[in-house]
Amino acid sequence: MPTTVIKNAGWVAAWDESAKRHVYRRGIDVAFEGNAISFVGTGYGGAADRTIDGKDCFVLPGLIDVHSHPEHEPTYRGIREEHGLPGMYMTGLFERAQAYSSSYAEAEADAGAAAEFAYCELLKCGVTSLVDISPNWDGWVDLMAKSGLRSFLAPGFASARWKLENDHTLGYAWDEARGKAGFAAALELIDGLAKHPSGLLSGVVSPSQIDTCTESLLRDAFAAARERKLPFTVHCAQAVNEVQEMIDRHGQTSIQWADSLGLLAPGTILGHALFIDTHSWIRWHTKRDLAILAESGTAIAHCPSPFVRYGHVLENLGDYLRAGVTVGIGTDVSPHNLVEEMRKAAVLGRVAARDIRAVSTSDVFHAATVGGATALMRDDLGRLAPGKKADLVIVDLKHPHMMPARDPLRSFVYHAADRAVRDVFVDGRQVVAAGKVLTLDQAGAAERLTQAQAHLMASVPQRDYLKRSADQITPLSLPVA
Ligand SMILES: [Zn+2]
Repeated sequence: MPTTVIKNAGWVAAWDESAKRHVYRRGIDVAFEGNAISFVGTGYGGAADRTIDGKDCFVLPGLIDVHSHPEHEPTYRGIREEHGLPGMYMTGLFERAQAYSSSYAEAEADAGAAAEFAYCELLKCGVTSLVDISPNWDGWVDLMAKSGLRSFLAPGFASARWKLENDHTLGYAWDEARGKAGFAAALELIDGLAKHPSGLLSGVVSPSQIDTCTESLLRDAFAAARERKLPFTVHCAQAVNEVQEMIDRHGQTSIQWADSLGLLAPGTILGHALFIDTHSWIRWHTKRDLAILAESGTAIAHCPSPFVRYGHVLENLGDYLRAGVTVGIGTDVSPHNLVEEMRKAAVLGRVAARDIRAVSTSDVFHAATVGGATALMRDDLGRLAPGKKADLVIVDLKHPHMMPARDPLRSFVYHAADRAVRDVFVDGRQVVAAGKVLTLDQAGAAERLTQAQAHLMASVPQRDYLKRSADQITPLSLPVA
């Protein structure tokens, strides 16, 4: 098997197994053979097929993105950044899901453009493992395999769609048979992934939302995940309206109801568990949700960007971490820049806590690596240590945005982000070189994405409850003179 060695790396974020944490090491060699890291230390003496001069390199484990929707989110650029309904506690989720929902059964090319664009963004910021929660579209498996990402495909299914007839009431259109059929199709896709020759694809059982699935569908989906030893993910406690709906239906918060169904356990990832009972927009009397998350071993997919655009913030990340909740980071929306999400997670945690000590850079780096790996039940990911998977990132210490690189992780998270990512390896294979994605075509995807957005916007009046145009729902930020 080919061996690559990064000689005399300037800085390395290495894994200290005894302390169970990342540590800085300087001037060491990092070698990987085939798809596994074989050496992290001083004076590598083995043979190497390729030697990389590490002097200007900050070597870190590949980042893990535990929540994304690449099949459609890139088409929302310029549409969703300021779209929200005050009468729905500021969220634009429900109106957008109805009005801006193109049927990809008729537009696979559009889904392909969006996903290819997103995968490029992800690779370029150092993501090596991706949970992709999307409706099943033709070409998905092939494109994911082509990307070279370590891919966790999460085909979504649901028993209901959100249905709006005004700007302040969340309604539901139920179709239980559709939910069951979607579940069966999802399992068929997931079960086929293990045979994929790349060895990099696996599945996540993913009923779409806690409020759009029947109790039996949720229970069956969780059982299917357990049976296959696969992760399970569902959107839960992501909106104020959703939590109110669950209290109306069950007398319990979304988290409590999920717990009562037995869905909360290690290997379960909740997107996004923001609106727990103690959140200032909920203020439900129970004050138990955080403890339920921690005690059950449930992970949350923390994705600050969509929420902060509505004016929402998780309250607060430091409390979740100190309670013992497993936290992974995700990119729910465009841009698919996990490093920006890490930065937001750190600073918004401090805003929410009104305390600079609430969340540290080390906390968010741990979440974006080990936290994500734990959520996915994969202790062979997210760590630079012998025997772990050769998923690693080289950041250019000589990039002007990294300098002075006194503390390269801070330079990376608060300053340079994706701009300084030079090379990315997944499973020992190089997928980004000198900042360029080797496996996909981002510029070509961007052109096709522009067409995809035009298709999406054209269908808006047919779907919106007031038959408005896209420009009426989401006007441009400046008038066109
Ligand atoms: Zn999501």
